Amino acid sequence: MAGEPQTRTNDKLAGIRQGDAVNLDTSTVPAPPQQPATGSRDKRLVAALLRWYRRHRRDLPWRETSNPYAIWVSEIMLQQTRVTAALPYYERFLTVFPDVCSLARAPEAKLLEVWSGLGYYRRARQMRQAARVVVDEHGGAFPDTFEALLALPGVGPYTAAAIASIAFGRPHAVLDGNVIRVMSRLVDEHEDVTRPQVKEALRAKAQSLGDAGAPRRFGEFNQALMELGATLCVPRNPRCLLCPLSGGCVAYKRGVQDSRPVKPLKGRTLELEMVVAVVRRGLNFLMRQRPPDAAVMPGFWELPERAAKKLDEDCLLDLGIKLGGELGRFRHAITFRSYRGRVYRAKLVGPLPPGYGWIAAGRLDEIPLTTVTRKALKAKLKGKAH
Ligand code: SF4
Repeated sequence: MAGEPQTRTNDKLAGIRQGDAVNLDTSTVPAPPQQPATGSRDKRLVAALLRWYRRHRRDLPWRETSNPYAIWVSEIMLQQTRVTAALPYYERFLTVFPDVCSLARAPEAKLLEVWSGLGYYRRARQMRQAARVVVDEHGGAFPDTFEALLALPGVGPYTAAAIASIAFGRPHAVLDGNVIRVMSRLVDEHEDVTRPQVKEALRAKAQSLGDAGAPRRFGEFNQALMELGATLCVPRNPRCLLCPLSGGCVAYKRGVQDSRPVKPLKGRTLELEMVVAVVRRGLNFLMRQRPPDAAVMPGFWELPERAAKKLDEDCLLDLGIKLGGELGRFRHAITFRSYRGRVYRAKLVGPLPPGYGWIAAGRLDEIPLTTVTRKALKAKLKGKAH
């Protein structure tokens, strides 16, 4: 459910068993065209997520209804308080204002009294305003499309997607704090998730997962992702061993889940290590092209790289790349992050990693290279620091 604060209680963890892990493509780094279709892998991943959700979801009153009014009330309340704190407010609100008509007629004093303790009173007033629009312009029936819901006062993309999917089964992915965290780990997004492009890339990935695996059960899919973020994929020490997505989670595979999602640190620069691998086959370099929907530098070419707070010599082994001797160093900074980059000679000890291919050295002047790759190649040529 909605924007549930990350401090939401995990009151159903007891008894959770290890989920059915399946593999997933890595995608804010989607596979390039020559890769096999990822639809069936996404389908299996979503199926595992839904199985886990049905077994382990918390019993909450708004999960027992498809009434858009009740779902809307719960979504708004959960945007400002924890599940356990919201429960009594939710029950009382629906007792006093059982439907959209009663809310539309609510006297100001009564509305504020019932809302009292939740804070953000402007939201309560906006809800009444929206209720009046539903009564006056929609005959008291909640609109059932994302666009019409979005047009209601105080209803943003998150709330519109939640109501449209949960109450009406419309295929719209929600993106709240919990989903951002899960998706950023699933695809190992190393860019700042507060940036609009990055958020949109994560939302698009959630949308494509839902489209592939739960086109007719989007509401359940959205709730499952949010529940996973609230109970297992928590901000600190995520419980990856119990997670149904662990087999497809790129951050988990790389051991960097605690460094995701990346957020700006106020007034501080985040110091990170970065490793770039130079793998050669004759005069060719192992490289990949960033996908067209990547949040940063889409379509640019890059050497294999990894960034995290701490990296060891095995940090690229998941790609079948074994690091050898150091070739050079460089610095790279972007917004609040400062990278200490090291370039290594490396060899491929496994099959060609997904999305990678061999690029002739002579083509490096013709194709667009990411800034990091340009710096790494320069550092390699210099063969020394900075
Ligand atoms: S970080 Fe862990 S808990 Fe979160 S999605 Fe990945 S495997 Fe699951």
